Amino acid sequence: MTRIILFGVPGSGKGTQARRLEQKFGYRHISTGDLIRTEVAGGTPLGKQVEPILAQGGYIDDAVMVEMVRQRVERSDVRDGYVLDGFPRTLGQARSLAGLEVSREIPILLDIDDEELVVKRILSRVTCAHCGAVYNLEVSPPVKTGLCDNCGKQLIRRDDDSEDAIRERLKVYRERTMPMLDYYRDRGDLHRVNAAQSMDQVAAAIEEIVS
Ligand SMILES: [Zn+2]
Repeated sequence: MTRIILFGVPGSGKGTQARRLEQKFGYRHISTGDLIRTEVAGGTPLGKQVEPILAQGGYIDDAVMVEMVRQRVERSDVRDGYVLDGFPRTLGQARSLAGLEVSREIPILLDIDDEELVVKRILSRVTCAHCGAVYNLEVSPPVKTGLCDNCGKQLIRRDDDSEDAIRERLKVYRERTMPMLDYYRDRGDLHRVNAAQSMDQVAAAIEEIVS
């Protein structure tokens, strides 16, 4: 089993690249945000455990998050491997995840320090309030302007996607993830891809690492 972990600030293209890896190699794209929503909606024991914590805006225990991933990757559609995007996010989560053993782990940092480019990418992002699909008006626009390809409903920009809010989110993100990236760097296997390139160039660089 191969585990690919994609790191990078919001706007670095993690989601896009995770989907491409799934198409290219068959490695399942696992989003912990989706996992949590599924557990809660399904009323599973784990879902019941995390629901009150989420309602209070609290922090879900690292071990619980990893347990969710473990249960997910044991399902039959995960055969050769999986891609994590947006998890782990802290040093504690990284250490917990290490307890979930795989034969091959490939941590990849989608590195981008051009803050203007990141802000521009996030600002051009729109979502469907109905089905949750995400589009980027510059890189992956919907077929019909302003409407969702999946369900035809109106696309909206997130309320918290003002420029100041984005810069603040980026700052918090960088501070929080720094110790975790050091952890992978110290282990000596953190790959780095220049995420300021086009999505196609980034995908090609990742493929070379994974192949
Ligand atoms: Zn939709």
